Amino acid sequence: MRPDPSFHPATAVTDSLKITDVKIDGYERVVGCTDPKSGLRAFIAVHDTTLGPALGGLRMWPYASDDEALFDVKRLSRGMTFKSAVAKTGLGGGKSVIIGDPKKAKSEALYLAMGRFIDSLGGRYITAEDVNTSIEDLEIIRRATRHVTGLARRDGGSGNPSPYTAYGVFLGIRAALGWRTGNDSCKDKRVAIQGVGAVGSALARRLVDAGAKVWAADRNHERLQKLQQEIGVVPVDEQQILTMECDVFAPCALGAIVNDKTIPGLRAPIIAGAANNLLLEPRHGKALQDKGVLYAPDYVINAGGIINVAVEFHPGGYDEQVALGKIERIPQALRELWTIAKEERIPPSDAADRLAERILADARGARKAQSVNAPRRTGG
Ligand code: NAD
Repeated sequence: MRPDPSFHPATAVTDSLKITDVKIDGYERVVGCTDPKSGLRAFIAVHDTTLGPALGGLRMWPYASDDEALFDVKRLSRGMTFKSAVAKTGLGGGKSVIIGDPKKAKSEALYLAMGRFIDSLGGRYITAEDVNTSIEDLEIIRRATRHVTGLARRDGGSGNPSPYTAYGVFLGIRAALGWRTGNDSCKDKRVAIQGVGAVGSALARRLVDAGAKVWAADRNHERLQKLQQEIGVVPVDEQQILTMECDVFAPCALGAIVNDKTIPGLRAPIIAGAANNLLLEPRHGKALQDKGVLYAPDYVINAGGIINVAVEFHPGGYDEQVALGKIERIPQALRELWTIAKEERIPPSDAADRLAERILADARGARKAQSVNAPRRTGG
């Protein structure tokens, strides 16, 4: 994010936020906020800032209760810490959620209040796009706080992250093919994509360009038809995509789709896609391994978007070439995890968690050593 000399916090809205700390073990700070004027009910979780300020998107969702929203913001912020650690973005992990129906509750006042809530953390949490939050929503938030990333290029931001996520997933698929078969070419490989939204459609285009045969399912039939007409993707139904014989299954829709119900039916030797929190529970990583499926851990293969956003923090500002260079390291990161998994006989998903925990522990250790060795001021 480039420094913006024209930045002024919003002054048009009077302050009516009620901000409350929620003590949660293992989290640096979790805060809730209500604002009767705008109707805002939101939480921000700063999970860990050992490696840098906590970056993570803002999600809007009609959660049934505060507890449900808290559960989500905690889970998602911790995931961001791990993702950024392995991707070496120099950032920590955080997330925020607004409780509300995105079809009914969006307003300028709501996002200005959210911006002031984010601003109250002084830059320890930095927000970005997520489910039901658009660049337009972020532009309103930006009027109340500078701690926003992923704005349009014309505003000095890194723009839409999805094409970069898709690029990383494409490279990850090639790495998985190479690991499994000794040949990383996509030519004539059969890839089944679940969900051809922002990431899935960009991935489909890259795969088709590289000579792959692509099948796809999406509950948005118009989207699917468009891709069929434009690049020859073969539409299949939602159930079939989970069980079809193919070389790679690329889930790019929902989380938790690898579970006790779906694993027996999966016929792909490789699972490599963009969807977050793909395993319903950690033990499903082991179940995939037992079945002989090569899994590309979700937060490693789908890090292209966050890597792109993180380049906004470079001293010279956003530079696409720098971002692409970093995204091109995703295959190497995956190969390292598959090597650890093989040597230590653990699932790649566990190897990723262990690597993230080691990176964080090393950084905490280095920080401690630095503070011990720093010259002390003596009174006088
Ligand atoms: P999106 O909303 O643009 O696309 C998701 C698509 O999945 C939609 O077209 C939707 O109709 C379809 N879908 C929903 N349920 C389905 C089902 N049961 N079967 C088939 N299709 C279904 O989202 P996106 O930005 O493309 O993200 C896709 C996934 O990747 C999400 O899990 C997201 O969290 C993850 N992800 C995205 C990014 C990014 O940069 N956008 C980065 C990291 C991870």
